[in-house]
Amino acid sequence: LKLNMVKFDIVKTVKDVFEIEQWQAEERNISLKIVNPPPKPVFVKGDRNRIMEVLINLIINGIKYGKKQGYVHVSFHDLEDSIMVEVTDNGIGIEKKHLPRIFERFYRVDKSRSREQGGTGLGLSIVKHIIEAHNQSINVRSVIDQGTTFNFTIEKAK
Ligand code: ATP
Ligand code: MG
Repeated sequence: LKLNMVKFDIVKTVKDVFEIEQWQAEERNISLKIVNPPPKPVFVKGDRNRIMEVLINLIINGIKYGKKQGYVHVSFHDLEDSIMVEVTDNGIGIEKKHLPRIFERFYRVDKSRSREQGGTGLGLSIVKHIIEAHNQSINVRSVIDQGTTFNFTIEKAK
């Protein structure tokens, strides 16, 4: 994967993705919000288009597997050399036994496969691929019926 590394504002990028996803969120009555929005730009280094692709996938998942009237919240956490971005929904959650496999290509949890929402099961494998190409990490935690949080890191720009 060839990356086009640039310096960009990750907060602005999330806002741009929210705008793109707004109609899908509204269709399912899900609110998109940045929690504790930083007052200033947060500059990071990465392939902006690829990081947008990551955010689009995680946020669409939050919407698709969310509950009606639910939310998808994004928050930013300042680490030593990186920024951690967390995407949290209060949706259907993922059973513990499935968690280690959701980043595999074509892997979909049965319960969601039967849902009317489409998809191929490729989204998260692409997301992981992009984050690893940046030498960063992605993690997930989830509680069935309560919700899911994905977090990934991205290098701070100097
Ligand atoms: P695609 O992203 O290719 O359109 P997809 O959403 O099914 O299809 P992934 O994004 O790779 O594929 O996700 C894999 C599976 O992990 C999903 O099918 C779903 O079962 C589960 N999953 C992913 N995100 C969430 C979430 N936020 N809440 C609950 N389940 C999730
Ligand atoms: Mg997906």
